[in-house]
Amino acid sequence: SEKIIMKTPLVEMDGDEMTRIIWAMIKKILLEPYVELNTEYYDLGLEKRDETEDQITVDAANAIKKYGVGVKCATITPNAARVEEYKLKKMWKSPNGTIRSILDGTVFRTPILVNNLTSYIPTWKKPITIARHAYGDIYKNTEYRVDKPGKVELVYTSEDGQVEKYLVHDFKSPGVVMGMHNLDASIRSFAKACFAFALDQKIDLWFSTKDTISKIYDHQFKDIFQEIYEEQYKSEFEAAGLEYFYTLIDDVVARIVRSEGGVLWACKNYDGDVMSDMVATAFGSLAMMTSVLVSPQGYYEFEAAHGTVQRHYYKHLKGMKTSTNSMATIFAWTGALKKRGELDGSQDLVRFAQKLEKASVQTIEEGVITKDLDHLLTSADRTVVDTEEFIYKIKERLEKI
Ligand code: NAD
Repeated sequence: SEKIIMKTPLVEMDGDEMTRIIWAMIKKILLEPYVELNTEYYDLGLEKRDETEDQITVDAANAIKKYGVGVKCATITPNAARVEEYKLKKMWKSPNGTIRSILDGTVFRTPILVNNLTSYIPTWKKPITIARHAYGDIYKNTEYRVDKPGKVELVYTSEDGQVEKYLVHDFKSPGVVMGMHNLDASIRSFAKACFAFALDQKIDLWFSTKDTISKIYDHQFKDIFQEIYEEQYKSEFEAAGLEYFYTLIDDVVARIVRSEGGVLWACKNYDGDVMSDMVATAFGSLAMMTSVLVSPQGYYEFEAAHGTVQRHYYKHLKGMKTSTNSMATIFAWTGALKKRGELDGSQDLVRFAQKLEKASVQTIEEGVITKDLDHLLTSADRTVVDTEEFIYKIKERLEKI
C-alpha cells in the first residue's frame, strides 16, 4: 500500500533517556510504515546540545518559525548531577525555556481521556485545558530576607531621572519581601494565544486573576484580555457560539469543580503551574497529558507533558524490561501531524493521525496498559504490558481501523 506523503517538513526534535527510546519505537512501529515522514531533524539530546554549545536548540526553534510546526521529545534540563554525569561544558538552560522564549509562546495542557480511567472529580466528563502564562511574576522575582527593623520601599527610576517611591512595609520585626514584574507585550501575546486556541479547539475560554486584591497588577491582565477580546475576537467567538468569561480565581475554582469540563482555563504563571498539576492528577497521570506551545504568530510545538523517565532508562540500559507509557509522546506526534496536515490541506495526514489516536485510546480502553495506569483503572480485566509491547498492541488496532 502507498504511504501518505507530507508536503511540508515537520520539525522533529529528538531528546533524552527513556523518551528517546520510545521516540524511535513510535517512528519505526507506528509512523514510518504508513507515512513518508518528511521531517527536519534536530537532535536535542544532551550530548548534542553540549557539543554545539546549545546552538542546536536555537536552530530548532528557528526552524519551527520557518515551517510552523514542530514535535519535541522530552529532554534533560541539566542540574549539577547531570553536569557531572555527562561531563558537560556548562549547565545548559532548559531547552523548553529556550524554545518558549524564541517563539514567545503559551503552553496548553490537555488530559487524554479514556473511558475506563475515571477522573477523581466525577463531574469532569470532558478534558480541561490549562493555558499557563509562561513569563514573569514570581518566576523572575527578586527576594530579600529582612532580619532587622527597617523600611522596604519600591523605587522606580525612569530613564529621564524621575523617581517614584512606594512603601512596601516598615519592618519592626524580621520578615521577607519580594519584587516581581510582568510586561504588557507578554500579557498581550498570552491573551492572543488563548483566544486563538479556544477558537481552534471550539471551546469556551475562562480567565481568572485576583484583581479585587491586586488592583493594578492583576487588573492589568484583566484589562488587556478584555481589550483584545473586544477588538479582535468578539465577533469570531459569537459566530462560533463560544464564550469568553472573566472571573476571580477563587470563583473559577468553584465553577471548575462543579463543571463537566470541556473549557480552556487561562491562568497566570503561578496559578497555571499549580492548576495544571491538579488537573493532570485528577484525570490520571502526566503520561496521559498532551502539551502544546502556541505562539501568537501561530507556530505550534507539540510535546509530552512529562520528563525523560530516568528511572526506567537505567533499567532499560541494564537490559531489564520497562513498562513506560508512550501515550503522551504518541499524542505529541499525532497533534503535530494533524496540524501539519491541516496547514497543508492534507486530509490523509489528518485522518491518519486521528486513527492513530483512536487506536491508542482503544488499546487502554480494552485493558491493555502500562504499569503506571495499573492502580488507576476501575475494571479488573486488564493486562500490564512492557514498553514495546504496548506500542505493538496499538499497531494491531491501528491496522484494523
Ligand atoms: P519525569 O516526568 O521523567 O518522571 C516523574 C515521575 O513520573 C517518575 O516517577 C516517572 O517514573 C513517572 N513517569 C513520567 N512519565 C512517565 C511515563 N511516560 N510512563 C511511566 N511513568 C512515567 O520527571 P523527573 O523525574 O522529574 O525528570 C526526569 C528528567 O526529565 C530530568 O532530567 C528533567 O530535567 C527532565 N524533564 C523534562 C521535561 C521536558 O522535556 N518536557 C519535563 C520535565 C522533566
